[in-house]
Amino acid sequence: MPATYITTHKRRALSRYGLAIALSAIALALSLALQVRFGNPFWFFFAIAVIVTTWIGGRGPGWVAVVLSTVVVLYFFIPPYRSWNVKLRDVPFFLTFILCQVVANWLISWRRETEDALRRARDELELRVEERTLELQQANEALVERMAEQKRTEEALQGTRAELARVARITTIGELTASIAHEVNQPLAAVVANADACVAWLSHRDPNLAEARAAAERATQGATRASEVIVRIRSLINKATPEKARVEVNRVIEETAALANGQASRNDVAVVAELAPDLPAVMGDSIQLQQVILNLLMNGIEAMSGVTGRVRTLVVRSRMLGSNQVQVSVEDSGVGVSPEVMGRLFEPFFTTRAKGMGMGLSISRSIIEAHGGKLWVESDGSQGSTFHFTLPSEDRTAA
Ligand code: ADP
Repeated sequence: MPATYITTHKRRALSRYGLAIALSAIALALSLALQVRFGNPFWFFFAIAVIVTTWIGGRGPGWVAVVLSTVVVLYFFIPPYRSWNVKLRDVPFFLTFILCQVVANWLISWRRETEDALRRARDELELRVEERTLELQQANEALVERMAEQKRTEEALQGTRAELARVARITTIGELTASIAHEVNQPLAAVVANADACVAWLSHRDPNLAEARAAAERATQGATRASEVIVRIRSLINKATPEKARVEVNRVIEETAALANGQASRNDVAVVAELAPDLPAVMGDSIQLQQVILNLLMNGIEAMSGVTGRVRTLVVRSRMLGSNQVQVSVEDSGVGVSPEVMGRLFEPFFTTRAKGMGMGLSISRSIIEAHGGKLWVESDGSQGSTFHFTLPSEDRTAA
């Protein structure tokens, strides 16, 4: 305990006991001054001295005031005056006086201590509330900081995932290059042939304008088709941010199958689409869904490339599952998925192909899950495999 505290404490105690002595002395002076004229009013002044001392100074100084006033009263105001003797008839009165002083001291000090205890409890409570508020504030700030941190991490993760998805798309597109060249080449050849025909019809001595016009129109259609293919491929490569809109799943399947057709025919694979009519739309990002289907188709074609002795057919099906799910399945008759591979298929960077990246299925699954659906595989081992995914149909998404 610091020395200054001890001295302040001592000084306060001394002044409280000094107060007891001073008030008892004042009570004595007043009682002596009034003794002659009004008899003996001592009990009144001494009682006040005891009450005030106890109230201000506490229990200890109060007791001092009680003892002092008893001694003084015995000496000055109980006959025979100015002696320590008490006559028998004054004993009850004297005892009553002492009792009153003691009770006054006891009551006042009890009241004071109760008030002190209450004040201390209130102060403590306030302190606790302040501490708790501070703790809560700190916890809240930490929580807000952690949430901001988590948000930053999620954004970074989202960015990385989008970038990975783009890389995976570009890899798939790389595999598709030949097929794309074929896709674009066909309409371009048609453009050239029709432009030639148009020139020929116009070069006749009697130009056949109707035929020339029809050829020119066919040339325009071919050019439009070629440019559509290019637009589709560019959007597939460039797009990184997903956009949700109404998507006709059957249309996406058809467009994607068209993209993969060249690769399929080069591998002697027949792509068959069995699409349920009147399929409800889903809410989603058509380019992302196209990426999933393209990935499943390319994997199916790849799985059948080394298979001999059975028909190489890749069947794409769409159907309703229950009342609010659209299911798409891609079935191949390729090498199938062995039990060891089954558990790891969707892991990032898992691949059994020499040139594989192992990201296709893991990205496809995260795309489908982000659309509120599921992607899984069924395989009986060596006879091929079927990849399924579901998506909530539009009604359910809108609800
Ligand atoms: P990648 O095609 O680059 O290997 P994927 O994530 O698309 O990456 O596929 C991971 C692995 O899953 C493939 O390497 C292959 O072993 C297996 N796999 C995917 N599709 C099929 C399929 N249709 N049939 C058999 N195995 C498949």
